[in-house]
Formats: sequence, C-alpha cells, structure tokens
Amino acid sequence: MTQREVFLRHVAQTSPVPMAFEIAKAEGCLLYDVQGKEYIDLIGGISVANVGHRHPKVIEAIQKQLDAYLHVMVYGEFVEIPQVQYAELLTDNLPSSLNSVYFTNSGAEAVEGAMKLAKRITNRTQIIAFNKSYHGSTQGALSIMGDEYWRNAFRPLLPNVLHLEYNLFESLNEITEQTACVIAETVQAEAGIILPAQKWIQALRKKCTETGTLLVLDEIQTGFGRTGKLWGFEHFDIVPDILLLGKALGGGMPLGAFIADKKLMDAFTENPVLGHITTFGGHPVCCAAGMAAMKALLDEKMIEVVKQKEELFKSLLVYPPKGGHSPKIQAVRSFGMWMAVEFDSFETNKKVIDACIVNGVLTDWFLFAPNCLRISPPLTITEEQIRKAYEIIIKA
Ligand code: PLP
Repeated sequence: MTQREVFLRHVAQTSPVPMAFEIAKAEGCLLYDVQGKEYIDLIGGISVANVGHRHPKVIEAIQKQLDAYLHVMVYGEFVEIPQVQYAELLTDNLPSSLNSVYFTNSGAEAVEGAMKLAKRITNRTQIIAFNKSYHGSTQGALSIMGDEYWRNAFRPLLPNVLHLEYNLFESLNEITEQTACVIAETVQAEAGIILPAQKWIQALRKKCTETGTLLVLDEIQTGFGRTGKLWGFEHFDIVPDILLLGKALGGGMPLGAFIADKKLMDAFTENPVLGHITTFGGHPVCCAAGMAAMKALLDEKMIEVVKQKEELFKSLLVYPPKGGHSPKIQAVRSFGMWMAVEFDSFETNKKVIDACIVNGVLTDWFLFAPNCLRISPPLTITEEQIRKAYEIIIKA
C-alpha cells in the first residue's frame, strides 16, 4: 500500500475528497511534496503559520525547551516559565483589562472555557452567537456554530443558544439581561472574510455593557497581525471582556487561550474550586514556540508591511497589469494578508483551486463561502511570491 492508501484507510477521514497532499517539508511560505515539488502556501495551515513555517527562532525555542522539561503537571499548579513569560508577553500587548491568560490546547477549548466563565460570572445561561460563524467542533462550540446544516445531526446541543444576523442593528435588541455572553468573530472568517461595520460592532459593545453581558471576541483567525494590526479589535476601537486566541498563538504548535480580567478569571478558583481543568493546556513546548513566534512577529516588524502586501496582491487581482480582469472573479474581499476571491460557484472555485495546486499554489475555500478562494499565507510572503501566486491564480 502507498502512504496515501494507508492515510485513506487508517487515518480517520472527515471528507469524502480529502486533499491528500503528501507533505515532505515546510519552510517559510513554501511547502514541498514527497516528489520535491515546491508550492507557495496560501493557506498557512488556516491562519496558523503567520511568521512562516519553521521560523528559526521557533525551532530554537522548541529545542531549548526539549532540554528542560516536557509535560510535568496539570494546568495551573507549577510555575512553568514558558507559560508565565508568554502570558506576560501577551498581556503586555493587550489592553489592561485583558490581563489574565488561561491557556488551552485548541481554539475550541478556549471557546468552551469562555462560555463556562461567562455563565459563572453572570449567573445567566443564554449564549448569543451569529449566523455563519465558526468557533470549533466540540459540542459547546458546535452549539454556537452559525449554520444548522453542521449542527443538526449532533443534537441535542447546548440549550438556550440564540443565533443572530451579523452586522444587523436590529439583532442587538435580542441581547438582554438574560444573556450571559455574546460570542462574535471580530471579522467573520469562514463566511468569506466579512467585516463588521464599525458602528455596528461598537453598538454591540455598548449593548453588552448596558445589559451586563460579556462580549467575547473570537480572534482565533484575526489575531497575530493577520489583519494588519496585532489584534483585529484594534481596528474598531473596542475591547472585549474575553478574548479568544488559537491558531497562530502556538507558532505552529497546538495552543489556544482565553484572556480576561483577573477579577473575572478568579471565578474558576471557587465554588467549585478547579472550575476549569486541563492536563496539557499551556504545554511548555507549545508556549515556548508561541512566545518565540510572537517575539519574531514583533521584532521583525512583520505586521508593518501587511497593508503594503495586501494592496499589491489585491491590485494585481483586481487590476491585472496585463489588463483584462478575469470576468470569472466576481469580487475580492480583503483585510490584511487575508483575502477571499469570489467566483460564481463552488464548481468554478474548485476548478481554479485544483489548477492552482497543479501549478504550485496551495489554496482552498471557506466553510460557509465555498465559492471563495482562500488567501491567508504567512505574513512573511515576499513580493516575488505574491506576483508568482497571482500569475498562477489568473492562469488557473
Ligand atoms: N474560531 C475560529 C474563528 C476558527 O477559525 C476556528 C478553527 O478554524 C476555531 C475557533 C476552532 O479552533 P480549533 O480548530 O483549534 O479548535
């Protein structure tokens, strides 16, 4: 049997047509398959590899931590330097009310922890989320997923969850003194990069404050410079009560976090004590890797050139230098190094994606926008790589 056949037989499958890309190596913005063929990575592990694959500082930090210790104790008992230092670095780069970090293994676990914390703080049970939002696949996170197609087969799910329309002012009337928290993506990722109207998201913040509801912003995709600022919420002049992080947080290692004021977070220490427990959350190797990635992001000033790269990529797609904008492209939405190229249908998009892969560009579509091609490469993508990727997309 080939490795591909073993993969299909023994690695649990979640799709009838997996990409089955046979990866041999990843470096910076490039992936190599087992034949040694090179690909420009426009997926970035789905907004994970913001500082590039295998950034040398990340590899060095992992190797250093391997020599000290791996897992030693369940979360929150030992003073583990990688956790402590990363929590300090994160909170130094956040508004003062976001000063206590709970590290998890994944984004979905951060969502779960935040929902529990909101219920515990407010003594309320209603959770509000938005249509076309994706927050993870565990049962709590699935309960707030914004599409009945994915939820339905797994019912019963969490009770008292309400889904509202994103960007609609009338939706906000549904937030009341019964609502524990509103969970929103700062920018809707899997909907195909849908930005909130500034006035709407500010009104959402205000309504939450007025009703004593916690505002939870999911920045699992928007975090770590993807949008051209360190955090997505900085564009909209608001601060959440709880911030959710994941993906790029671990620099390529599995790590999630929910971050709140210590006054809120301390609710987990009593009634019941050990209100939220994890064995591996905040694993020292993952924290060491994540911290090295965040330092590289800041020290190497990667975020400062995101806007410039976005403008280059977008202008090529919208105003191709050789003229004759492809009539197949219906729209290009972007927010930093994060773009959705919209086609008339999934079928067209799929043909473009397949042709891109054949020609050396790795891309895919969005969960709730299957007609949109995803561009979310490492922020370190070079101008030359952008131009090459554009040529391949247009040819496709
Ligand atoms: N929230 C958002 C916006 C996501 O895109 C994802 C994953 O794609 C999650 C939460 C869940 O993260 P994880 O897959 O690490 O559980």
